[in-house]
Amino acid sequence: SYGIDRSNSMGVNLANDDQLRTLAEQVNAAANDNWRASPLVPGASVIGPNIAVTNPADRREIVGQWQAADSATVELALKNAVAAHEAWNTTPAASRAAILEHAANLLEQRMPQYIALCTKEAGKTIPDGVAEVREAVDFLRYYAAQARALFKPEALPGPTGESNTLQLSGRGVFVCISPWNFPLAIFLGQVSAALAAGNSVLAKPAEQTNLIGYYAVKLLHEAGVPEAVVQLLPGDGATVGAALTRDPRVAGVAFTGSTDTARAINRALAARDAAIGVLIAETGGQNALIADSSSLPEQVVKDAISSAFTSAGQRCSAARVLFVQEDIADKVSTMLAGAMNELKIGNPGLLSTDVGPVIDEDALKMLKDHAARMDTEAKKIGEVALDDDAAHGSFFAPRAYAINSIDVLHKEIFGPVLHVVRWKSDQLDAVIDAINATGYGLTLGIHSRIDETVEKIASRIKVGNCYVNRNQIGAVVGVQPFGGQNLSGTGPKAGGPHYLPRFTTEKTITINT
Ligand code: GLU
Repeated sequence: SYGIDRSNSMGVNLANDDQLRTLAEQVNAAANDNWRASPLVPGASVIGPNIAVTNPADRREIVGQWQAADSATVELALKNAVAAHEAWNTTPAASRAAILEHAANLLEQRMPQYIALCTKEAGKTIPDGVAEVREAVDFLRYYAAQARALFKPEALPGPTGESNTLQLSGRGVFVCISPWNFPLAIFLGQVSAALAAGNSVLAKPAEQTNLIGYYAVKLLHEAGVPEAVVQLLPGDGATVGAALTRDPRVAGVAFTGSTDTARAINRALAARDAAIGVLIAETGGQNALIADSSSLPEQVVKDAISSAFTSAGQRCSAARVLFVQEDIADKVSTMLAGAMNELKIGNPGLLSTDVGPVIDEDALKMLKDHAARMDTEAKKIGEVALDDDAAHGSFFAPRAYAINSIDVLHKEIFGPVLHVVRWKSDQLDAVIDAINATGYGLTLGIHSRIDETVEKIASRIKVGNCYVNRNQIGAVVGVQPFGGQNLSGTGPKAGGPHYLPRFTTEKTITINT
């Protein structure tokens, strides 16, 4: 059913200055330098060395410590998960849902603490932190509501003398491997869907955001998920991720990250001498925004800025290439440069900040290398100024470049860089073809006031999420199911009606009466 009974979290009204200021005070009061993360695996005894977590906005600031899971802990977690599965799977779906809803309520009450974690560990601005916590709450409630609706055995009409029912249950042990860019929302989205469906879960957070993953799993335990049913395995891809995905006891993997890693997981699952594993992957994008000459330049620029630079461009959905029709291209470029000058990059804990740091030094180097290439091959349209404090953190100044074709971008540039391509009135089909030819298919923005143009682009473009005359980020759970096609992911879409069923297996029971 698409129309399940639920509603999204109210979050915080970002337009209300008083509410926002109070929240910022609470967030800053909750900030800590002593957060801890370690494997959450019942019976695990080996404690590894502490690894320091530093603030992306100021690398001199240590915000906490984490400890990685070693191979023995991974093995113990697998054993625990297998042993715990049946009891959880046979717990009524309504009881599992109630636990997840309890977790949602706790998370909502503790929003400032979780935003503080997102700011200090992941460099999120406060508005991004609000959106992050809110989306996590929404995922918990959405999959809980869906589990209540879907797990009722359904009687199927058939010949007299027989009763037929179709029943869903969890697949077994599910591995959830989540990204650092939505360390709470996507983390809890994957985990809550797997749990709602009756699976036991091994969660591996991104190495950059172990603290957030740890406190998310602690919250689930507090809400009532048994400790062996959701376990946390912080660690590197080789020790934890690869060991899990090649293990025959694993029924499926939910993954968000790069297309290459998704392929490697798919190969590992397929190579096992075991049941055929399920992979649910959300991967990269090479997202475009097409603006024609009927669009409003002010709105194009506003939405391009928001789509390209919010969250320092570190969203899979972010706009990377703006295709602007030549009649309005000069105006849009000039306005874009002007609007970029107004952006404030800096400490994400301050309400005046629009753009925070990028996640780490590797990300910064990739972006600097790309900018160096663009500086020689393309024309710079605009660049945001960095202040002196930026030297202590992983800051990259948002930039925009004029390029000739989307083909000059060989890979996804995961950060605040917007590329602008001009097109002539007879080139709309060529623009659509070029975007489709990247092989990615996540988001597309369209700006046009001509209905036929909008319809044509929307029908020909191969993407999962198409946004018209607005920005192209921030899909809302249950309202804009999110996820791409082709190189951008396997589907089904997160926060949509078909996601939870993918974590289940179906059983038909036929009784001769
Ligand atoms: N759901 C997010 C959005 O709509 C993007 C998720 C991602 O970056 O993986 O902006």
